[in-house]
Amino acid sequence: MGQAQTAQALSPLLAVCDVSVVFGGIVALNGVSFDMQQGQILGLIGPNGAGKTTLFNCLSRLYQPSKGDIRMEGASILKRPPHRIAEIGIGRTFQNVALFSNLSVFDNVRIGAHARTRSDIVSDALRLPGIRRNEVALNARVQEILNYLELEDVAHTIVSGLPFGTQKRVELARALAAEPKILLLDEPAGGLNHEEVYALGDLIRRIRNDRSVTVLLVEHHMGLVMSIADHVVALNFGRKLAEGTPAAVQSDPDVIKAYLGSKDQ
Ligand code: ATP
Repeated sequence: MGQAQTAQALSPLLAVCDVSVVFGGIVALNGVSFDMQQGQILGLIGPNGAGKTTLFNCLSRLYQPSKGDIRMEGASILKRPPHRIAEIGIGRTFQNVALFSNLSVFDNVRIGAHARTRSDIVSDALRLPGIRRNEVALNARVQEILNYLELEDVAHTIVSGLPFGTQKRVELARALAAEPKILLLDEPAGGLNHEEVYALGDLIRRIRNDRSVTVLLVEHHMGLVMSIADHVVALNFGRKLAEGTPAAVQSDPDVIKAYLGSKDQ
């Protein structure tokens, strides 16, 4: 392997560099750093109030760090507003599902796919030939994702009529339709039953393997994190407590102490 290749192989897809977030007097994150490598499933864990959501919101650009930087493929993302992170390959799902509940599954996923297209309102309205070609390609992409996530039977169903577990899959489909390099999943197991959590774990792994998507998973369901993550970062009181393989983090004395002292156990 040449020097350039070695450097490329080692440079992270996403780098969280010394990130701090202060709300009024509360330090929600305190100098947190870690890297995400291409193709990794990274689990972000920690007891209630540890700072997981705050970090997630920095990555999805809803919060601005008070200090530090977040770099995607070497370039800072901190000047980017939330609606422009899909363009650089960051996709996300929401803890409580944030779909257009009165639209069909197909249309919701199509909106996700639009996040990555370069068409503008004027060209769309004039239905220029290039735009029509884009539309055909876009619809085909949506259909492929619906098939992939076994949602084809409900493609034309209005989202609000679907069970919560299916809505979560639609949200995943919408995020995937923008062809993200990194998928940020905010407590995807929340509200799911045992079988659904198991199936979700399988699905996340399949998405990573089949579609080369790197995954950051914020999750309270320790069984899910430990069974699918390649790498785990544990936070407590806004600081990084430990990071490493699931087995190493699970047996880390500081992590055990943090969880024993929290309401999570
Ligand atoms: P949980 O598992 O309970 O969701 P968490 O690990 O996601 O917790 P955060 O929600 O990031 O933790 O909270 C970290 C700290 O920052 C907490 O002390 C919390 O009260 C505080 N905090 C979070 N968001 C805000 C906000 N918008 N304004 C003020 N304080 C906040």
